[in-house]
Amino acid sequence: MKKLIGIDLGTTNSCVAVVEGGSSQIIPNNVGGRTTPSIVAFTDKNERLVGQIAKRQAITNAANTIYAVKRLIGRKYDSPEVTRARDHLPYQLVPADNGDVRIKIFDRLYSPQEISAMILQYLKKCAEEYLGTSEVDAIITTPAYFDDSQRQATKDAGEIAGLNVKRIINEPTAAALAYGLGKGKNEKIAVYDLGGGTFDISILEISDGVFEVLSTCGDSFLGGEDFDRRVSDWIVQEFLDETGIDLRNDILALQRLKEAAEKAKCELSSVTETSISLPFIAADETGPKHFDRVLTRPQLEEMVNELVEGTLEPCEKALYDAKIAIGDIDKIILVGGQTRMPKIRAMAAQFFGKPPSSDINPDEVVALGAALQGGVLQGDVKDIVLLDVIPLSLGVETHGGLFTKVIDRNSTIPLKKTLAFTTVADNQTTVEVHVCQGERELAEHNRSLARFELIGILPAPRGIPQIDVTFEVDSNGILHVSARDQKSGKAQEIKVTPSSGLSPQEIQRMKQEAQLFYEKDKEVKEKRMSLNRLDGLLKNVQRSFAEYGYLLPPEKTNDVKESIANSLKIMRLVDVPLDDIDQAYLDLERKSMLITAAMMENPTVSSQMGDTQTQMEQLLADAMDEHEDTE
Ligand code: AMP
Repeated sequence: MKKLIGIDLGTTNSCVAVVEGGSSQIIPNNVGGRTTPSIVAFTDKNERLVGQIAKRQAITNAANTIYAVKRLIGRKYDSPEVTRARDHLPYQLVPADNGDVRIKIFDRLYSPQEISAMILQYLKKCAEEYLGTSEVDAIITTPAYFDDSQRQATKDAGEIAGLNVKRIINEPTAAALAYGLGKGKNEKIAVYDLGGGTFDISILEISDGVFEVLSTCGDSFLGGEDFDRRVSDWIVQEFLDETGIDLRNDILALQRLKEAAEKAKCELSSVTETSISLPFIAADETGPKHFDRVLTRPQLEEMVNELVEGTLEPCEKALYDAKIAIGDIDKIILVGGQTRMPKIRAMAAQFFGKPPSSDINPDEVVALGAALQGGVLQGDVKDIVLLDVIPLSLGVETHGGLFTKVIDRNSTIPLKKTLAFTTVADNQTTVEVHVCQGERELAEHNRSLARFELIGILPAPRGIPQIDVTFEVDSNGILHVSARDQKSGKAQEIKVTPSSGLSPQEIQRMKQEAQLFYEKDKEVKEKRMSLNRLDGLLKNVQRSFAEYGYLLPPEKTNDVKESIANSLKIMRLVDVPLDDIDQAYLDLERKSMLITAAMMENPTVSSQMGDTQTQMEQLLADAMDEHEDTE
């Protein structure tokens, strides 16, 4: 049976888990990390880096290092969120022809889905290696506030990465699942999620296995990075006061500050004071300057107080929208790395009047819950029935630009509902179906998801034709809409493509490209392994030739020398076919047997180490000369 993994595709970090032996476990990435930075970078050598390795070079390659792509996925270039993001991001955003966002790297434009797919593809590869199978399907989580386009775009990203996405589920629902909530009990819970870039608060009600998101609120530009910035600003000011040097003008120094600030912030979650040391951070005519200071937890708390307080208003709003009092909340779950800060925990306890649950790592809780949902789907996890809900109402634009709801928000999915509509003019043979999502009365104030035309309605006076419009939301929360003229009886097949998603052709193309990159990576890996193997053998043969080569007759000496020279040449070439490496290995292996045979024939001789270094350098020089001649 295929393995079903749970993926928390986060703004800052992503995490993967799987159910094994009935319980959910984290799958580490290929460098041993339990979470992976959601970062993709492109280098000028046409290399693509994902995760920790991409994060490490972000300082020196900021314009080609993409982070926080989750803020862009499924959104329009002109949307308020993207407009705000444009001012903060070091990489370039441009509008696509259809109004979507594209990211410009060197001369190529990438959709946010493609970038997310690169992260997913990396996670998929790590999971496949860890599980020892390439038969992997996935469940991916999205924030509760994501609309249909954002969910669809996330699903498309999965498909581009070559993943079969079985479900898209809400992050707070996944977090609640990881805590085993809802097992036979009816509970109201608050999920307080403060990550690197965003803050979300969701109020959920769990009754009889139905996880219902009652309300969700937050600030998509408040997160751990803002905390880091407060610390960096403090360092800059202290340094300026002491030396008169303003570090804000030095990009490299700023990036070092940013890293030191985040490190100090994280350390202060477990100790009460820490030192920040930045040697050689600047220099003037009097010589190099260093920054060395102690930062205490109370100092940090003072610096970020405003940010911590900033999360309270959305909490109040979410409770108000959910129409429940603070005292009715049974549990508070903390999600996101920044909630490790003791002040956040204390504030949450004070606000909700009870301590938050804290036995599961806040970085891992969403992925663990997503994997559990996989376990439920595969029948490995019993006792839970997970029914999710749609976060916003779905409907169509009707006469006068009004929004007519077909499915109300918070309806349990999967579901299907049909409403009958009619024409507004006599003998009207065409109607336009404009599908929207939101809670506002006018269609123009809601999110436009798709438009299509139903052609071929039988001519009749206005108000007579009956057109059935069917909305079907699948278990991923993704919408399919169809329309049918009752009179003619002929159903028209209409396919709805979410307006900010990619077309199936685009997805197909990106999928092929992603696969191509995967193949390329595989080839590079195979080549490296073959080169390593050749290198190991070469070192051995060089050594035994230097010691015992004198035992060989002249023609065999030349054979061995040629083989060594050829292998040395292969090791030095930049791009060499895999077959050539393997061929060189086989040849060298055969030639090494000549030396072994000579040694066996002369068991009493000892080694004669000459000036082996010089000999080998000469061999290499000869080999390279020969190579240049043949080019
Ligand atoms: P997430 O998006 O959930 O991965 O959260 C990432 C944010 O959590 C980053 O801003 C980190 O600096 C922050 N973070 C991680 N560990 C800690 C910690 N021990 N104390 C405070 N913040 C942390």
